[in-house]
Amino acid sequence: MENNKEMRNWLDAFKLNHPFVIAGPCSAETEEQVLKIAHELKDSDVSVFRAGIWKPRTRPGGFEGIGEIGLKWLKKAKEETGLLMGTEVATAAHCKLALEYDIDVLWVGARTTANPFAVQEIADTLAGTDKIVLVKNPVNPDMALWLGGVERLHMAGIKNLGVIHRGFSTYEKTKYRNIPEWQIAIELQNKFPDLPLIIDPSHITGNRNMILEVTQEALDLNYDGMIIETHNDPDNAWSDAAQQVTPDALKQILKDLKIRKVSGDSDFENKMTKLRANIDVLDANLLELLGKRMKVADEIGQVKKENNVAVLQNSRWNEIQEKMVAEGAKKGLSEEFITKLFKSIHQESIEHQEKIING
Ligand code: PEP
Ligand code: MN
Repeated sequence: MENNKEMRNWLDAFKLNHPFVIAGPCSAETEEQVLKIAHELKDSDVSVFRAGIWKPRTRPGGFEGIGEIGLKWLKKAKEETGLLMGTEVATAAHCKLALEYDIDVLWVGARTTANPFAVQEIADTLAGTDKIVLVKNPVNPDMALWLGGVERLHMAGIKNLGVIHRGFSTYEKTKYRNIPEWQIAIELQNKFPDLPLIIDPSHITGNRNMILEVTQEALDLNYDGMIIETHNDPDNAWSDAAQQVTPDALKQILKDLKIRKVSGDSDFENKMTKLRANIDVLDANLLELLGKRMKVADEIGQVKKENNVAVLQNSRWNEIQEKMVAEGAKKGLSEEFITKLFKSIHQESIEHQEKIING
């Protein structure tokens, strides 16, 4: 698959003067709930109403979706509000039903994108459709697997494609439910600048208080739109309660977002904003890594303490220094810079170890 300006046609056809917005509950629960939320979102910047009909739950016992009857509710919501309808599909049977009920936007969920057999089954079932099909990133941080999902659909003659960035699973507990790993989406965007890219701050954060900040970060990185879980009674939602916002809260988020005009802005301004946002992401990664490195230094300090060994081991330090200067040169980094940088890292590491050994 190659980048192609026509990848954006479906999005441009909306003729929006703001980012593309998909909103609605994690799951369709009752007819009343679906209609209530859809009506509250009707006169807003929302173009597509989302609701999960089949829910892939990590462990059995959770709400696994209302099933086919929910598609009837979506059809009714579309007739009453004019909003387009979107849902997740994971099997050939889901795809057939979604097409039968004329669902406008289908997305492949994160657990499904991780499974090429399942994605191929979806591609074969949807072959040639003019529906919009969006591919969520796989649960594991693998850009090729994500792109592979898009390629399978593309090869099946599906033209209206896009990707949703919903973050990645980690074993470590972080402030995110799924860590964004922005650099993976940025890499995809650099390869396919015309493939619409949508942020899913709900599943990245797992926390309604962080939705605005993550969406803003994405817009600063030139994302094309967002998918935000929106529920009339979030706390009592049947799935993903902590991350859902009310329709009013969503409207406030849309107001608070700083949206750069697509046209009118000088080319320079656009390029700089994008590059600076890239730098911000990389700086955050640097800090994260340095923090991790210091944690390892702390552990080393602990082992040295237990074995009564001196903090400074000159031979080891010279070895690191030489290796880093050589590696740095390959990346165009001067010896002077690398030496200063690693001296400073080493100093901090020694201070950490001192504290442990003497503290
Ligand atoms: C969802 O959008 O409700 C969902 C299940 O998302 P994901 O596939 O990203 O976990
Ligand atoms: Mn959800």
